[in-house]
Formats: sequence, C-alpha cells, structure tokens
Amino acid sequence: MKLDITKGIQRKGVDVPFELTDSWGEDHWNGDTISYVGPVSFSGTYILADETVIVRGNARAVIESNCARCLAPTETAVAAEVEEAFVRDKGQEREADDDQYMYSGHVLELDEAVRTSLLLELPSRVFCKEDCKGLCCQCGANLNINECSCQKDLTHRNPFSALASLLNEDEEV
Ligand SMILES: [Zn+2]
Ligand SMILES: [Zn+2]
Repeated sequence: MKLDITKGIQRKGVDVPFELTDSWGEDHWNGDTISYVGPVSFSGTYILADETVIVRGNARAVIESNCARCLAPTETAVAAEVEEAFVRDKGQEREADDDQYMYSGHVLELDEAVRTSLLLELPSRVFCKEDCKGLCCQCGANLNINECSCQKDLTHRNPFSALASLLNEDEEV
C-alpha cells in the first residue's frame, strides 16, 4: 500500500486527502496463520510539516482466523485508526531504539503501519459463534456438527466420578 505524496510536497502544511485499497493474502499473527478477505482499505489525510509526513486515517479489513474453540475459519471485520509520522530518510545513522517510519523520494510505504494497527484490533481469541461447542478433547470431533460417542462416557474421564459410580453400584448390591 503506497501513498504518493507529490501533491503534499508541492503544498506543504495543507491536508491532502487520500483513499487507498490493496489486497493482502496470508499473514502470521500471534503464532497463527490469518488471511485478509477482500480488499484492505485505508483513507484519510496526510500533511507535510517540514519533511515529516503525518498520516491520519481509518483502515478497514476483514480478517479470517481460526475459531479459538473449534478451529473453523472465522471472519472478523476490523477497523483501526492510524496516525503515524514518517520521517525523510537522509541516509544518516539511526539510533538503535529509533523505530520511526521512514520514507524517501515521494512515496510512503504504509503496509507496516496499517497492518500493525489492524492486527492490534483483532481479538486475541476469535469465536465462530458465541456458543461454539468446540472440539471433543478425546476424538477431536467438531461438537457443533455432531456429538461423538465419547460424550456418553464423560464420567469416566474423571477418575473420581468413576470411583463414585463404582461405590454406588456396591451399595445397590
Ligand atoms: Zn468454533
Ligand atoms: Zn469424542
């Protein structure tokens, strides 16, 4: 996602509107593979103050990630406000802790600023639906689709409840 700032260079100190879209494919975030469904859009204004460019705008994307319970691909609409300064790269040595965005020429590369803002808005745990039943922890069946036979033996997963039912049986004899 590139922003041509030629207009802003010609008219310093004036807000210049922009509207950008891009299509991004797969990405990685928090150890998961995610993907952008449809176009990523970013619109707003930029202004040149001296040689620093201030970019302000709203980014939108639909991000597909896996449901935290059943792993089904799940789409989440994400919107983020972005406000970043881009400093002209004069080829000087940069300090180690200088994580400012740089640009050279008349084009800003906005991908990283927009991507980071959007992904920070993505919930850390996404659910395909509020009451997702998840996967059976024994056989891995998706419990939203069908109940597996493990469900009926639920008590035997807990050694204490299994013991309790044995004691009950003894009592009945
Ligand atoms: Zn789910
Ligand atoms: Zn099961």
